[in-house]
Amino acid sequence: MPSIAENLTLIRTNINQSINARKGGHQAVMLLAVSKAQTSNLVREAYAAGQTCFGENYLQEAINKQAELNDLKIEWHFIGPIQSNKTQSIAQHFEWVHGVDRLKIAQRLNDARAHQTPLQICLQVNISGEESKSGVNPEELITLAQEVTKLPHIKLRGLMAIPEPTEDPTIQRSQFIKMRTLLEQLNQLGHQLDTLSIGMSNDYMVAIEEGATIVRVGSAIFGARPSKH
Ligand SMILES: *Cc1c(COP(=O)(O)O)cnc(C)c1O
Repeated sequence: MPSIAENLTLIRTNINQSINARKGGHQAVMLLAVSKAQTSNLVREAYAAGQTCFGENYLQEAINKQAELNDLKIEWHFIGPIQSNKTQSIAQHFEWVHGVDRLKIAQRLNDARAHQTPLQICLQVNISGEESKSGVNPEELITLAQEVTKLPHIKLRGLMAIPEPTEDPTIQRSQFIKMRTLLEQLNQLGHQLDTLSIGMSNDYMVAIEEGATIVRVGSAIFGARPSKH
């Protein structure tokens, strides 16, 4: 089995290739290592291989890991679903929050962040229109973005999506193009958004070709997640 360092090297090479294959600009891409269900020691191993940004889905698990790794200069991103009673703690423990899809959540994160630098957030869009999925519907996105932009302790950076899983690159690509189009629409309305958080282990290269600026990669770095979680 390849090591975490070897996986990271391969992924970085792939990322650079995909940036070069982009039609549009060659804007840099942040590799976010998704460490949910992985141990602190594995995070440490990835950090030793040069990885500094990590994404977590579960608050308590993340807080435990942060305590065990507080000697490292890690930038922590919260990428899981956000319960409103957890907003205070999320705002205090993370630099970025990717899954904001309601004004109420944004307001609560904003209020909890008053004494720190602004929280970097992405609005999660339900791009495949699945009933069960979290994320704001594309039709409601413009209004939500306008309201969130008014909050002083939040910096709206862009959009995030978790598209319906598919191995079909044509479908993958069409979802990413939809996301890029939504971002462009918001910027035409005067927003200054620079972030598209799309792409995971099985589709990050396609995502980058279509404009991803953050890819959230878990299993391609750490291997399959331990099944019991
Ligand atoms: C788990 C997770 C990922 C990483 O998924 P992989 O397929 O392991 O790369 C990315 N984003 C979110 C929101 C996740 O929950």
